[in-house]
Amino acid sequence: MVHAPERPPAGAPPARINLYSDTQTRPTPAMKAAMMAAAVGDEQHGDDPTVHALCDRMAALMGKEAAIFLPSGTMCNVVAILTHCGKGDEVVAHETAHILFSEGGAHAAFTGVQIMPLKGGGGMFTADDVRAAIRPKTRYNPPQRLLEVEQTANIGGGKVWPLQQLNEVAAVAHAEGWSTHMDGARLMNACVAAAVAPRDMVAGYDSVWLDFTKGLGAPLGAVLCGSADFIGQAWRWKQRLGGSMRQAGICAAACLYALEHNIERLAEDHANAKALARGLAQIPGVVVEDPETNLVFFDVRGAGVDVPTLQRRLALRGVSVSGLGGRVRACTHLDVTAPMIEEVVGLIRQSILA
Ligand SMILES: *Cc1c(COP(=O)(O)O)cnc(C)c1O
Repeated sequence: MVHAPERPPAGAPPARINLYSDTQTRPTPAMKAAMMAAAVGDEQHGDDPTVHALCDRMAALMGKEAAIFLPSGTMCNVVAILTHCGKGDEVVAHETAHILFSEGGAHAAFTGVQIMPLKGGGGMFTADDVRAAIRPKTRYNPPQRLLEVEQTANIGGGKVWPLQQLNEVAAVAHAEGWSTHMDGARLMNACVAAAVAPRDMVAGYDSVWLDFTKGLGAPLGAVLCGSADFIGQAWRWKQRLGGSMRQAGICAAACLYALEHNIERLAEDHANAKALARGLAQIPGVVVEDPETNLVFFDVRGAGVDVPTLQRRLALRGVSVSGLGGRVRACTHLDVTAPMIEEVVGLIRQSILA
């Protein structure tokens, strides 16, 4: 079995309206210009000034001592868990967490942790749920080392953890002597939607990372933040995993550009998601989850179509959406405009009817 991604058929045009994922944004000419102008050096050697600028800026934004630039969000989770935990340790996370669903079994393959999946609506759980997950500290039990949350919760529907709930679950973890880690792939969507400053949103978390390749529109890169000691240890894992780079300032420049230009505009993506949800709710048989950020999940089974059929019909109309566990997911992002949303509601209506 070959696991390489399928290529599109030769000559197939890209979707005209791409709601498949906010990862599919293309760098804009202005972002590319910032990349071309970047001062660079050997990142692995500590000589890339643009990577340093990005890490300093991220550490300040998150209210942490230090930061490390990594190629992807997945590598941030892997490096963070390797740094917090040893083999056989247990990580407590939501049952829909990215670390369970979408990292190719990395935590069994590399980190050697086991993950205790907690239930709860919207990809979230409560302080009581964490208390109920605490194991007695005996030699029989796996040592529990880390609590992990996702802000926003992806499979949870792009829901935003309320700040108080984030702090409550972190307080239970810390009282047990565990560390806390936030998968902040879409953290800025949460901060914009809730009007909470990033440093406040992540105050209860020992480590946190932000993805620059989701709604922020950069081609590559994520930044993991934490204490100076934690980031120092994380560098060892980055080196071991082959995540140390060379003239990475080219990519860090795109991330800096995104911090400058692409955060406040996330509010437009959220408004577009709400407009899409309102339009979809008018289609008979379609059940839409109320979006809090840029992810719109809807169920079309009540309208008599299944997800692959709808995807196929939409593809013929130049629209791409993803399917996640019986639900359709439509992501809004910087390449999706309000007029496209208006148009796509009509196209989805047509695709459901025929
Ligand atoms: C996308 C995503 C990741 C992984 O990020 P990559 O940059 O794609 O490796 C991790 N967690 C969540 C919640 C995500 O949505």
